Amino acid sequence: MHRVRFQILILALLVTSFPGLSALKAEPNRNVPAPVAARRPVVPLPQQKPKLSAAQVAAIKKQQKQHKKTEPLAKILFGAKKVAAALPPRAVGWYSKGCLAGGEHLSDNGDAWQTMRPSRNRAWGHPKLIALVKRLAHDAQTKDHWPGLLIGDIAQPRGGPMLTGHASHQVGLDADIWLTPMPNRVLSYRERDNISAVSMLDNTGVAVDPKVFTPEHVALIKRAASYPEVERIFVHPAIKKALCNAAGTDRAWLGKVRPLWGHHYHFHVRIGCPNGGCRHQPPVTGEDGCGKEVDEWLKRVAKVKPEPPPEPGGKPMVPSAKRMVTMEQLPTECRAVLNAPAVRLVKEDQPKPKPEQTTAKK
Ligand SMILES: [Zn+2]
Repeated sequence: MHRVRFQILILALLVTSFPGLSALKAEPNRNVPAPVAARRPVVPLPQQKPKLSAAQVAAIKKQQKQHKKTEPLAKILFGAKKVAAALPPRAVGWYSKGCLAGGEHLSDNGDAWQTMRPSRNRAWGHPKLIALVKRLAHDAQTKDHWPGLLIGDIAQPRGGPMLTGHASHQVGLDADIWLTPMPNRVLSYRERDNISAVSMLDNTGVAVDPKVFTPEHVALIKRAASYPEVERIFVHPAIKKALCNAAGTDRAWLGKVRPLWGHHYHFHVRIGCPNGGCRHQPPVTGEDGCGKEVDEWLKRVAKVKPEPPPEPGGKPMVPSAKRMVTMEQLPTECRAVLNAPAVRLVKEDQPKPKPEQTTAKK
């Protein structure tokens, strides 16, 4: 029994990105029933980090020790910051190698949204992105029959690399939005940290389940793509294909919607660089990407079978070089962002790291 559980943990590790030190105190992975009618079995979120084996912990500690001889890893430094830098808002660097000055915290509850995973404290973003998320939430609710948004990770208070998950989301210009509609009640903090999102895929893994992925989902993603500030939206290739099929004659927006691994329970909205300090993405070509591009992606996705779990006590995961970034490798300005005094928060903007007790029976 123990062994089976261990193997599941290792498998989960393999399909997630580098597990950082915060995974040492992994989030509990309880199966709390989803607040909305779960029409399909819930899938565990890739962000939910399982516990690491002793060998893995040792490997990470060893790598950290080696790096400490020169400089701590940037993800350790940025991951430790609880609030934003008191500087004018500025996205610095590149989406997957940068930081954020003057970050704004998205309030936990809005009339048209609720933030998820509050204990991670990743609901910070460039004020332009925060404004856009709120606008999308309102527009989706009032114009697209969408009950409201569940907001996933945006960025850390000062952006930067993260201990777990996400290569991007470093400059406060990326936001993950769940494809699960907001329930018509306020979720407790415990629920927000534990509820699983619903996958849009059918059993083949290369197509959406039409009972789950609805015209309202299409309208929501199209709405997000309609804003000029939004330069990219990342979705699973099967979702892109479904959007291609549903789009009809109005297809210009599809060019911004790009297929990517994962992203079958949430979509990822990325806005353009709003200031001088960050790098711009190449503009979209104007093609809808519904031909060869999406089909190639589907072939790639279909080939990937879940890897068999390694034997207990097997080779610990080696974090990739991409995940071992030091401050020297980030834009110079990120040092100032890291070392700046903390912004003073008004009460409602305070992140609430401690989950509230819920009366719901576990
Ligand atoms: Zn994402």
